[in-house]
Amino acid sequence: MSEYDYDLFVIGAGSGGVRASRMAAQHGAKVAVAEEFRVGGTCVIRGCVPKKLFVYASHFSEEQEIAASFGWDVGKSTFDWSKLIANKDKEIDRLNQIYIKNLEASGVEIIQDRAEMRDANTVFLVDQNRIITARTILVATGATPFVPHNVPGAAFAITSNEAFHLETLPKRIVVVGGGYIAVEFAGIFHGLGVETSLLYRGPQILRGFDDDLRDGLAAAMIKRGIDVRTNANVGEIQEIDGECKVTMHDGPEIMTDLVMYATGRIPNTAGLGLESAGIELDGAGAIKVDAYSKTNVDNIYAVGDVTNRVNLTPVAIREGAAFAETVFNNNPVSVDHSDIASAVFSQPELGTVGLTEEQAREKYGEIDVYKSSFRPMKHVLSDIDEKMLMKLIVDKASDRVVGCHIMGPDAGEIVQVVGIAVKMKATKADFDRTIALHPSAAEELVTMR
Ligand code: NDP
Repeated sequence: MSEYDYDLFVIGAGSGGVRASRMAAQHGAKVAVAEEFRVGGTCVIRGCVPKKLFVYASHFSEEQEIAASFGWDVGKSTFDWSKLIANKDKEIDRLNQIYIKNLEASGVEIIQDRAEMRDANTVFLVDQNRIITARTILVATGATPFVPHNVPGAAFAITSNEAFHLETLPKRIVVVGGGYIAVEFAGIFHGLGVETSLLYRGPQILRGFDDDLRDGLAAAMIKRGIDVRTNANVGEIQEIDGECKVTMHDGPEIMTDLVMYATGRIPNTAGLGLESAGIELDGAGAIKVDAYSKTNVDNIYAVGDVTNRVNLTPVAIREGAAFAETVFNNNPVSVDHSDIASAVFSQPELGTVGLTEEQAREKYGEIDVYKSSFRPMKHVLSDIDEKMLMKLIVDKASDRVVGCHIMGPDAGEIVQVVGIAVKMKATKADFDRTIALHPSAAEELVTMR
C-alpha cells in the first residue's frame, strides 16, 4: 500500500496535462487529474479549435467572390452568428467528451475541482474541501489572457475567452495587440463583415516573425480593408451611450462597438499555492523547469504554457509525453524545442519554421535567401491580386535550409511538411533534386533558383 493517495496528481486537464496523465496511467501509475473549468484546456475549449472553426466561417465571404469568378452564381447570402456559435459549441462539447472518455479509458480519475498545493506532496481540492496526497505532482495549468491594467477603461474590453461566446456579432471592433491572436481575430471579424481596426504598439505586427511575412501580412490586411495602425497606443477606453470610444495616446479617437485585447497571455500560477511547495517562478511568473520539465522541487514537474517555453499545443503535448516517459517509464526524454513549425491563421495565412532571415544572418553570417512571390492559381480568374510569398533561408557554408516562411493559402499545411525536411537538416541541393508537383503552390519551394 502506497503512502500516498496517488502516484501522480496532475493539475490542469489541458493538452499537456491530459497527455501526461494518460501515458503515466498506461505505464501503471495511479493517476488523478484536477480541472476547474472544462477538460480539454485552452486549445480545445477556447483556443485553437474554436478559433480555426471561426477562421473557416470567415473565409466564406472571400470564397463566394472566388466562386463567382469560376462561373457560380452564389446569389444573396446571409450569415447567422448564433448558428455558428451553437454549431461550434456542439463540436467543442463532442471533443470535451472524447477527452473525458480517453482519460477514463486509460484509468485516470478526473476530479472536477480547483486544486491548490499545500506542500510538495499535498494538494487541497477547493470545492470538495478535501486534502489528497501524491508522490509526484505535475502542474499543467496553462496561461490566461493578459490585459494591461494601466489603461483606463480596459476593463470594458473582452479577450479571446469572451470572443467565443459573444451573444451578437458587433458591427465594429477594435483589436489591440499585434501577435498571433490579434491578427487571427482581426481576420475572423473582418471576414464576417465586421468593420475592424487593429492597433499595435510597435512599428510592425508579429514581432519575432520574418520581416517579409510581417510586412506582407500587414499590407495584405490593409488591402483587404482592415484598419491596421502601428505605433498605436491606447490611452483610454470609455463607454458612451452603448458605444466605445478608444482614445489613442497621440490624440486620435476611434468609435467602436467592442474592444478586444489580445496583448499576450500570462502563466496560470497565481493562487495555486506554489510557494507553499517551494516552487521557483521566473520573472514572468512562469514555473522554472529543467530539460525534463522538473521544477526545483524533486517530485514536482510542470509542462505547457505555465512554463512559458514555446507556447503551442503540440509542444505541451510533447512535453507531457516526455515527462511521463521519463518519470513513469524510467526512460529520460527531453523535448527539442528547436525548429518547431507554426502557423498563424491570419488571412492570408502564415506558416513558418526555423530561423528568420535576421536570426540566420546573426547565427551563420553568410546566408542565401530565396524568395518567390506569385498569384495563387485559385485567384487568377478573380479580381483578387493578393500575392503568395515563399522564402527559404539557406546557410551558405553547409547549404542547409535553416528557415522557411510562407504567406498564402495553406501556408500552415505546407510548412508542417517542410518542417520534417528542416528537422532532417535537408540542404538546398536536396530541395533542388526534388521534382516539383505541378500545378501546386508548394512546388515553388523546389524550383527556387
Ligand atoms: P503574443 O505574445 O503573440 O502577442 C502579444 C501582442 O500583444 C504583441 O503584439 C505585444 O506587443 C502586444 N502587447 C503585449 N503587452 C502589451 C501592452 N501592455 N500594450 C499593448 N500591447 C501589448 O500573444 P497572443 O496573446 O497573441 O498569443 C499568446 C500565445 O498563444 C502566442 O505566443 C502563441 O504562442 C499562442 N498562440 C498560437 C497560435 C497559433 O499557433 N496559431 C494562435 C494563438 C495563440 P510586442 O510585440 O511589442 O511585445
